[in-house]
Amino acid sequence: MSEIQTNLEAIRERISAAAKRSGRAASDVELLAVSKTKPVEILQEAIEAGQLAFGENRVQEILLKHPQLPSKLRWHLIGPLQSNKVRKVLPLVEMIHAVDSLAIAKDINRIAGELGLHPKVLIEINVAAESSKHGFSPDQIREDLEALYELDRLYIQGVMCIPPFDLALEKVRPYFVNLRELRDDLEKRGGAPLPQLSMGMSHDFETAIEEGSTIVRVGSAIFGSRA
Ligand SMILES: *Cc1c(COP(=O)(O)O)cnc(C)c1O
Repeated sequence: MSEIQTNLEAIRERISAAAKRSGRAASDVELLAVSKTKPVEILQEAIEAGQLAFGENRVQEILLKHPQLPSKLRWHLIGPLQSNKVRKVLPLVEMIHAVDSLAIAKDINRIAGELGLHPKVLIEINVAAESSKHGFSPDQIREDLEALYELDRLYIQGVMCIPPFDLALEKVRPYFVNLRELRDDLEKRGGAPLPQLSMGMSHDFETAIEEGSTIVRVGSAIFGSRA
């Protein structure tokens, strides 16, 4: 068994156990294999181990890898998106995780209209108000929610966050709780379900699942550290 296969199996078991602790089934949590910086040969090993959903944070890497790998794969763009790249990437991805401004949401909506697409998107929330990170502040998303729902090409499925990196899981947990509670509030305000919570990475995905995550984005714990 390859190392990637071993890693994937171990992570699936940990996802399943964490899902149980939160009263859910393993199938309620999607594992995205974050393959950024890794060549297609490495992704191939994950595919052989049954992994079909991949997360990339750069459009360029999706454009490069997509044509070289089976069409049954499901690609998620998890990094920031610039308007000049929307047209190229939109037809290739199942979901865009990091809609971080009303302006980019409008661009995605307009281009989706031109292409005849209805993209699934998540709203990125800057849960710790870090100046180094993208995303809406909780106040800003409450203000912009109505305008976002007017963009009728977008299927707004939920929210995502990248909390401050901290190996002490009990310091990270409150950010996951905050994101879930913000999601609940936005559902009430918007009157529409926001079922997806994209939160949790290699070091904290179990904590995120305990707090309700439905999509975990796991890179280094599957593929090893990045250069
Ligand atoms: C790189 C990345 C991940 C995965 O990080 P790991 O710590 O390697 O699991 C998750 N989410 C986003 C947005 C990323 O850019």
